[in-house]
Amino acid sequence: MKILPIITITDPLLKQTSVCIEEITKEIKILIENLKTTLYAHPRCVGIAAVQVGISQRIIVVDASQSSKENRNNGLLIMINPNIIYSSGKISSREGCLSIPDFVGNVVRKKKIEVEYTDINGKIQKLGTSGFEAIVIQHEIDHLDGKVFLDRVISLSTDVFRRQN
Ligand SMILES: [Zn+2]
Repeated sequence: MKILPIITITDPLLKQTSVCIEEITKEIKILIENLKTTLYAHPRCVGIAAVQVGISQRIIVVDASQSSKENRNNGLLIMINPNIIYSSGKISSREGCLSIPDFVGNVVRKKKIEVEYTDINGKIQKLGTSGFEAIVIQHEIDHLDGKVFLDRVISLSTDVFRRQN
């Protein structure tokens, strides 16, 4: 499987709404395998949306276990057409993004979410999660709606920082 090149913030595609997937074709399955390979090729990367490799279709791949931070998670999650059907609470954290390599930012998100999505076998699934994994899923679903974390920070001058590696 292939490591796909990541598009960055200057690419207008990142502002586009991704389209729903009607059928899980062989091409979609190959794309998902490549998204997994691409995610795991980036150390500490916890999520990727298909649009980040230039394909604006509603697929996200999340694996919160890849974080250096201790967190409760469900390991690898592949979500097709994901939708948040319930959310509650608030949680603030510092986010980064493969498509915004030079900056991180403080973002407030929902603390608990329930997501409905289609799995790789075409079955509708529901997942309830909270904390770090919930943040990652919200970040990736934002990509499907043409949003990045910079659109969520309260102040670009006080909540965005140059990444220090
Ligand atoms: Zn991102």
